[in-house]
Amino acid sequence: MLEAALVQKGHFAADELYLELKNNKSNVSRATVYNTLDLLEKCNLLLRRNFGGKTQRYEKITPNKNHDHLVCSRCGRIVEFNSSGLNKLIRKIAEENNFEFRDYSINIFVKCNDEKECKAQAEKRNS
Ligand SMILES: [Zn+2]
Ligand SMILES: [Zn+2]
Repeated sequence: MLEAALVQKGHFAADELYLELKNNKSNVSRATVYNTLDLLEKCNLLLRRNFGGKTQRYEKITPNKNHDHLVCSRCGRIVEFNSSGLNKLIRKIAEENNFEFRDYSINIFVKCNDEKECKAQAEKRNS
């Protein structure tokens, strides 16, 4: 179960992991999945993110790889990006307001250009 959580790619929800384990004929309970994810988060192995909506998603913490997210508010597709310009700007804003910069996390909410695919994905998610 620990392993399964740590080999997940990208941004996954607890229920997605639970379903995957179930499909692999594992008999872990949903509570175990939630508790394990909680634990991994406390150990700083996973990062919990909220991309809007009710679902919390987890992703593996990769050192020195600060990234931000574009999130489609219709289908939930998540794309990561890196911008050193944005990073500098945010540090500058913190300094200008007399703060010591610590960390930041940005989600940019967007809508896919490919409306057909986006709607299909949105329906899949809600089914
Ligand atoms: Zn990410
Ligand atoms: Zn979309």
